[in-house]
Amino acid sequence: MTRRGNAPVSPVFDDVYYSADDGIAESKFVFLDGINFPACTYGTHSFTIGETGFGTGLNFLLTWKAFLEAPDNRLGTNHLTFISIEGYPLSLEALQEAHKDFPELAEYAEELQKAWPPAAEGYHLRQFSGGRVKLLLLFGDAAKTLKTLEANIDAWFLDGFAPSKNKAMWSEDVLFHIGRTSNTGAKLATFTAAGFVRRGLEANGFEMQKAPGFGRKRERLLGVKRLNEDQSNTRKKEWALLPKATNGIITVIGGGIAGAWIAYTLQSKGKSVQIVDEPHDHSARHLPAALIAPAFYLEDSPRATLLEMMYLYTCQHPLIKKHTTMTGVEILANTIGKAEKFRKLVEKLKWGNAFISSNEQGDLSLPISPVVDAEGLIAGLKTDIHTIRATVDQLERHDATWQLYDKDGKHITSSDTVIIAAGAASERLLGNNCPEMRLRAGQVEVLQRGTAAGTSNILPEKSLSYGGYLTVSADGHPTAGSTFEKLEDLRDFDRQPNEKSRRTILRDLVSALTYLGRLEEDHQSDWSDILRTDHSWRGVRATTPDHLPYVGPVLNQSATTDKYQKLKQDAKATGLGAPCLQENLYVFSGFGSKGFQYAPLLAEYLAASLDGTPSPLRTDQMHLLHPGRDLIRKLSKGYH
Ligand code: SAM
Repeated sequence: MTRRGNAPVSPVFDDVYYSADDGIAESKFVFLDGINFPACTYGTHSFTIGETGFGTGLNFLLTWKAFLEAPDNRLGTNHLTFISIEGYPLSLEALQEAHKDFPELAEYAEELQKAWPPAAEGYHLRQFSGGRVKLLLLFGDAAKTLKTLEANIDAWFLDGFAPSKNKAMWSEDVLFHIGRTSNTGAKLATFTAAGFVRRGLEANGFEMQKAPGFGRKRERLLGVKRLNEDQSNTRKKEWALLPKATNGIITVIGGGIAGAWIAYTLQSKGKSVQIVDEPHDHSARHLPAALIAPAFYLEDSPRATLLEMMYLYTCQHPLIKKHTTMTGVEILANTIGKAEKFRKLVEKLKWGNAFISSNEQGDLSLPISPVVDAEGLIAGLKTDIHTIRATVDQLERHDATWQLYDKDGKHITSSDTVIIAAGAASERLLGNNCPEMRLRAGQVEVLQRGTAAGTSNILPEKSLSYGGYLTVSADGHPTAGSTFEKLEDLRDFDRQPNEKSRRTILRDLVSALTYLGRLEEDHQSDWSDILRTDHSWRGVRATTPDHLPYVGPVLNQSATTDKYQKLKQDAKATGLGAPCLQENLYVFSGFGSKGFQYAPLLAEYLAASLDGTPSPLRTDQMHLLHPGRDLIRKLSKGYH
């Protein structure tokens, strides 16, 4: 990147990222002092800043440092969320280069660089300082991206390039959404004094004033948001409401991967959380190894972006990293059409080789994909969370609290809010109010160590995905999975290893090894002599008709069906009002075999909604996860 004075210059806009004389002094003067930061955060539980134009992240780094160093933050009780929009993300190398100019910010800059996402359009949530500081990067064009944002912003830094050089960053649409997502009293600071910017912000509810500019600039603008008359700043569809939780105790039913993540995430936001968990369980927490092998889509859709964001978030999460036993997975182009699809995928994503690449055969390589020690991770998440060992059979609501009972009618606990994260058991707990769930039994084969001895290293010591998968467990066993066997009723589940499933898993593995040239065709029939099982794992996963989990409030299905009858005649009918909800009852289930990959970001999403803090997901993605989607779809098609 070229430079002008002491600042890098954008080749797209021919403008400097910050003052060519003194970037730090300008940033502090215009932005931090402009909103009276950090004093403006004192006494708040959480404070949210929005920024147009992340650039090198200088404003963010200064804000983060000032927040941690503020004298009134000694107690460490409050949280900062910094949301920043960037349409032309810098490469990691350009970011590192720019940060060299700020040695006093080096320790913060280094953390940011480590967490820097690829330039993938979408939202990227990152956490720093033990979760007290969150950065939500919105990569994409400002107007398009802001439309999808659900947040209540307390202060704005408007830092697009000069309006004369970059009108798009100051368009009517952008200014409208800045107004829409602002709290009453939100402050605003910007370096420009352009008349159309001032008028545009006034038209969107800000009281604006001029103030002296930095250095040679004569003036800049400051603003405050007037009373927000339209409090409903959401763009969600009526049925997709996600109400804030009342204060008090939140009980999570289920202590597997989903339950542990949501409990941990809520607790780290300062909520009082407890888990009620089966005395004996057979969930994924005892999986020998959890391989994060993503499935991506070629199309551009909310679902495709959601899968990409969840994958990238999980791979960089500090707790996932702490419990990672090895990284990297190769996804084999072993069936017709896959090679072509994978090549197109690499082209579409443009993440760079550090994240994804394909070889001559078309096989994909994902070097950051972790293999997670499942038990270690789940135990780590639950370390500080009170866990009650009991099997919940009944949930009843009395006097505005939930009462939990076991099958003998014994009272287990009471709670203001309940989140059902019980995997396959969620269906029974939700009864008539359960959206459609499907059960799948699954088996994993833990192979004998040294299986390949004497057979010229048949098994590679890396993770492979080929329909099935091969990886290495935390204690060094080659591990191959997995089956998806239809299960009508949880009571029919047989925990005993199933020989047919074992043969399916090993047959798929042998065919992948043959594809890789590690086994000759002739050897295929001898595989049972070569690959020996040490032991098998069997468990049940709960999935959904569209393979995305249910994350959000539990609907009263019959009352909502009655209320939404109009949808049967007119699928686009509006003005029907909010769905009928089971008060303070939420579901976080249906992850199938993707709990390790999806739960981290989706727990942040659910916790943010319950807390009223900014959503790390786009509005259109919230619709994909809402537990009411199945009912709405059926009604709109004329069923029920
Ligand atoms: N705050 C930054 C810092 O601390 O380094 C400087 C921001 S720089 C002046 C403006 C940024 O806005 C650039 O990084 C540019 O890529 C981005 N930008 C410009 N037009 C945009 C648009 N229409 N949508 C999204 N981002 C845009």
